[in-house]
Amino acid sequence: MTEEKIRLRDAIKINLRGLLLLYSLVPGNMFMTGLFIVVDVVCSYWDYFFLAKFVNDVVLGSSREVLVWDVILVTIGRTLINYLFNSLQKFWFYSGSNSWELPNAHLNEKMMSMDYEYMESESIHNRRRDIDAMVRHNGGGVCKLFWLATPVVEKVIQMLVAFGYTAYLVSRSFVAFSVEPVKAVLFVGTFSLAFAALLMLSTKKNKVAEEKMYRYGEANVPNDRQYEFYTTEYMEKGECGKTIRMFHQQNLLSSHFEKLIETIHGNIDKMSREDQKRNVWVGAVEALVSGLVYFLLAVMVSKGAILVGSICLYAGCIINFLYHFRYCLVQWVELSANTKYVKMYLDFLDIPNKKYEGTLPVEKRDDDQFTIEFRHVSFRYPGSDQDVLKDFSIKFRIGERLAVVGKNGSGKTTFIKLLCRLYDPTEGEILLNGIDIRKYDYREYLSLFSVVFQDFKIPALPLGENVAVSTEYDAQRVELVLERVGLGELLQKMPAGLNTPLYTDFDKNGVDISGGEAQKVAIARALYHDTPFVILDEPTAALDPLAEYEIYSHFDDLVGTKTAVYISHRLSSCQFCNDILVIDGGKAVQRGNHEELVKDQEGLYYTLWNTQAQYYQTEG
Ligand code: ADP
Repeated sequence: MTEEKIRLRDAIKINLRGLLLLYSLVPGNMFMTGLFIVVDVVCSYWDYFFLAKFVNDVVLGSSREVLVWDVILVTIGRTLINYLFNSLQKFWFYSGSNSWELPNAHLNEKMMSMDYEYMESESIHNRRRDIDAMVRHNGGGVCKLFWLATPVVEKVIQMLVAFGYTAYLVSRSFVAFSVEPVKAVLFVGTFSLAFAALLMLSTKKNKVAEEKMYRYGEANVPNDRQYEFYTTEYMEKGECGKTIRMFHQQNLLSSHFEKLIETIHGNIDKMSREDQKRNVWVGAVEALVSGLVYFLLAVMVSKGAILVGSICLYAGCIINFLYHFRYCLVQWVELSANTKYVKMYLDFLDIPNKKYEGTLPVEKRDDDQFTIEFRHVSFRYPGSDQDVLKDFSIKFRIGERLAVVGKNGSGKTTFIKLLCRLYDPTEGEILLNGIDIRKYDYREYLSLFSVVFQDFKIPALPLGENVAVSTEYDAQRVELVLERVGLGELLQKMPAGLNTPLYTDFDKNGVDISGGEAQKVAIARALYHDTPFVILDEPTAALDPLAEYEIYSHFDDLVGTKTAVYISHRLSSCQFCNDILVIDGGKAVQRGNHEELVKDQEGLYYTLWNTQAQYYQTEG
């Protein structure tokens, strides 16, 4: 978290941009908010004004009709306006117009559209989590902006009205002391000084307390991250559950977790103690100011400068002014402290996509004749000083089968990531039909590929939507691919057919599927998209070599005339391929078919084949 100081001008710009962003989420929000502000201001002065008028009308002996109208306005009028607008306000805000989730929509969109390399960056994930943690612990960030800024606008208008009345009162005091102007100045001066001194004292106390409270909330942000780690990322995960039991980690984890909870609660306690101390102070100051105001008004009434009923109006105005001033101050301190979180949110949205997006359309070819070439490609991951691929050159054509084999960590997945432009090469170029892939429209280029990654994910959505990656799809075609990958029987058993949600995370009517079935769903998803290239990047790594071989060779039958790329660290899985590329330490070291490669006793393939065969024999 940055500790840079934000200049006032920048702070205003940041908050305004944040507010506009919030308002832009729901059309009409700005108008409705303005309307509610005006109604709130009218309502808060309504009582003082009509109560004062009522008492003064009584004192002046006004007609019964006037008095009845005064009473109606004070009671029914105010209640009616309040009721009507409160209902409208609740309806408007609770119907989602200012829901806390809305700003998340921008963040989610950003996460899904940012360059892929950011998705593999821990610092980006931490920044995203910090934004959430801030909302949880301080209710802060852009979500809070609406609730901080809107009341400030309202209170400032309230203060202006109160100020107008107070100015009028001061002018009346000069009338009251007209024969003794020195006394008038002394009277108003003393009062103003006492008022200002008390106001400043209250301001200072409030500011200090608010800043401290914010700091305690802020101190819980990293704790929150830890809390999430212990709960959702560790204690609740099945795979960690095994380790917890095997190594009796319960006590170790519980003791750390308890310490963390203590720290979090420590900060919350400090916050609430600070709040209580501040309230005592503020209460005392407000009591003193109220006393002063009533004394001033009593003097004015005795001098005949104002009518007795106007005490309600002026006392209300001045005390309101004080209250609004304090409120604005608290909001201001919070707004200032919150600014850096709004900035955090906006900075996150502003993270620039570095990847150059070309405009060239991908040639639509009926014969699907595409050639891909890696020409002297070197690549290193951002922040790393080691090349993962080094001077890597290969060429392959549509309709061919390419197997990429090599030890774990040799750069096979990186090769696929570059092929799909999830990253761009650090040096060299990748060509599609002789043109650098950076020049193509990225969406069009990506639509050439379907990849089943090692860490593929099947979200808890209906089966049909999962395969088609859309809510609208050709059901017959989905059923056909499910059949082809061997999920026909499973589909028969699904209670709502393609509409059956997978997994029971969000829907108790969902159906939990096994790892192997999930793999088949992922393969069906790749096939449904009917792209010229399909790639299997070891989605079968958790299976034994024989099962992997069966899936790979069966898949080979399924892909027909498409180009298929098979990645595996197990040579046996890919021996059916006529074209096998061996990668070692980021370099393409051998290429050929199984028979050729296994003959070359100097080559890596030969060594790996014999080593792995030995293991399989031992395993078998
Ligand atoms: P393979 O698929 O052959 O197992 P990878 O292409 O996944 O190998 O990884 C090649 C090398 O790149 C490994 O040393 C791995 O640690 C490193 N690597 C992979 N992903 C990243 C990343 N996001 N950031 C930094 N290094 C990475």
